Formats: sequence, C-alpha cells, structure tokens
Amino acid sequence: MSADKPRSPIESGCPDGFQYMHPVMRKNYGQWKFHTHPKPGVLRHVAYSGDEIWTVRVGTQRILDVFSLRELCDLGDEYADGYIHFTIRSNVEYMVSDPEKVEPLIKAIEAKGYIVGGTKNSVTMISHTQGWLHCDIPGTDASGVVKSMMDELITEFRECNMPNRVHITTSCCQINCGGQGDIAINVQHTKPPKINHDLVSNVCERPSVVARCPVAAIRPAMVNGKPSLEVDEKKCICCGACFPPCPPMQINDAEHSKLAVWVGGNHSNARSKPTFQKLVAAGIPNNPPRWPEATAIVKNILKAYKDDAKDWERINDWIERIGWPRFFEVTNLPFTKYHIDNWRGARNSLNASTHIRF
Ligand code: SF4
Ligand code: SF4
Repeated sequence: MSADKPRSPIESGCPDGFQYMHPVMRKNYGQWKFHTHPKPGVLRHVAYSGDEIWTVRVGTQRILDVFSLRELCDLGDEYADGYIHFTIRSNVEYMVSDPEKVEPLIKAIEAKGYIVGGTKNSVTMISHTQGWLHCDIPGTDASGVVKSMMDELITEFRECNMPNRVHITTSCCQINCGGQGDIAINVQHTKPPKINHDLVSNVCERPSVVARCPVAAIRPAMVNGKPSLEVDEKKCICCGACFPPCPPMQINDAEHSKLAVWVGGNHSNARSKPTFQKLVAAGIPNNPPRWPEATAIVKNILKAYKDDAKDWERINDWIERIGWPRFFEVTNLPFTKYHIDNWRGARNSLNASTHIRF
C-alpha cells in the first residue's frame, strides 16, 4: 500500500470466538448430552453425535510474561491440537479429543510447574481486577493478593474437598470492578480524601466531581483565591469515587487504606435467589508483598465452612442455615459495632435488594 493512502481502520472489539474453538467443540456446538468429572481439574463432555472432548484446567498467576505464554501455547500445540482457552478466572484450559493424551498433558503441565485443578467443589482460582500494573486508581495490588493467597490455598485448588464450589474475588478499589463472590477481599478506605488545592483548578472539572459523590459531600469552594473543592467529612463515606475524575483528591493512603472481607455473595441460579455479600472483617492491614493477615482470615473462614457445612451448601446457604451469630462464633471473628450499617443514609441502603425497581 502506498504511503499516501492510509489503510482503513481495523475494526476493534471482541473477535468471533468460533475461529478459536477446538474443531470438536465447533462441530457439536449446542449439542452436548452430558458431562462428567473424572478427576480434579478434568472435565469430560459427551455430545449427541458420540464425540467426546476432555478439558484440562490449569491455574496461572494471571500476569504472564511472554516466556510463560509461549510455554503454555507450546503445550497446546503438542497435546491439544493447537488450541488454548483462557477463563475469566485466569485459568488456561486445554481441550483434548483423544483421552489417551489427557494424562501425558497433565504430566507435562506439572513438569513445567503449573497446577491442574479448580473444577467442581474446589476453591476456584481467585478472580481479580488489575491492580498496580494496569489501573490508575488502585489502593492495593489485587494480583499480588491473589498470588499470595493462592500459594497458600494450592491444595484446595488441586483437590475437591469443599462442600461446594468456592468463588473468591478481589477488588483493588472500592467503587469499580470486581468484588462479588462467596468470599471477597476488597479495598476499604477509612478516611476522606486529602485535597491538593493548588492542582484542582487545573486538573479537575469541578461540576463532574461534585456530581460523582454518592452522598453529596463535595462542594465547590474558593481556597487561597483559587477555585477548588471542599468535602463535608461528616457525610463522606470514604468511597473514593471522587479520586478518578480528580486525582488531586488523594484517597489512597499507606496507613489508612485497608482491606475488608465480605462473604456470602452469590448470583441467582436454578435453585436459589441472588444474595448480597456481607462485611465480616474490616480494617485488615494492606500489607504487601504477601498480605498475611488477609490470607489468615480467608483460610480461617474456609476451614470453618469445610468443617461445618453440609455437602452442596454454598457459603451463603451454610450461613443462612446456621445464622450470622453462629458464623462469627465458628470463625472466631470479632463482631463489632462497625458491622452495623448505622449511616444516616441507610434508609436507602437497608431498602436495597437485588431486584431492579423504578
Ligand atoms: S477495582 Fe478499581 S483500581 Fe482495581 S482495576 Fe478495577 S477500577 Fe482499577
Ligand atoms: S470519598 Fe466518596 S463520599 Fe467522600 S467525598 Fe469522595 S466521592 Fe464523596
């Protein structure tokens, strides 16, 4: 193409997934009869046509360097007809149409230091948001929390020992992506934003910032002769929503940005209604690089759930059966006044439900 004739723009967006699908899956799309779970980390799907496909699920650390990606792709070339699939929980899945290849594939995966698991009643890979590497507003590194936590939950990923599946999520700010699961580890800011008044007028569009606050705590103000903003700290719920549109309203703080653990969230399914998660531990130190305090609390909750829940109870079902007071007893987590939503705007939040109303 000549230099004076620019190429037409490439349409971006989600590409058609069929081109990346294993041919056996493409052929039997929507025509699956049943599936079985031969062993942890492996699923076998049988189609009405009689075709079978075996899925081997592999945990990754999510932030993958080119070397690791090539290594994982080479395994796909060697054992899985050149196909590879990433799940939303950062697992890699290999689809194999020849059952004879399943065990050699697992051996090759483990020889490279990866782990096979995360199916059925295991602790699945923790889903996480971007953290320090990719986002501009995080208060912690979700990816780092996940890596250090999964290092300690490796057996629970590899084996199917839980009463039912456990989905854990993390979120590295308090307002955007992530954060709903059987157990969620979320950032919790504990003090209002600190405003750099010298920068506000140059950096922030003040009406947008005022409109952003969910509790109307921000007002325009003149400070040192310059247009700026002020925060009514009695109203502020330290959510951090004003920081993305106005970085001079610094909310992240080495000491006062903490982690909190919430439990019992679940999407609706064929058997149960959706449930909201509830706060069970707050003020946990945001302590990189291994976040030992948050990990200890999550392990403690998982142990209590494993010991006490009946087969097939999800964490929310288990807590509903035993009751919240008993949950705090068996997990030895302190129940404090901060667990009670006594904020004056609670007349709205207490009225919240998962149903959309107009
Ligand atoms: S949770 Fe917040 S900080 Fe983390 S990636 Fe999403 S928007 Fe960014
Ligand atoms: S942190 Fe949240 S509640 Fe506080 S001023 Fe900013 S937007 Fe409003």
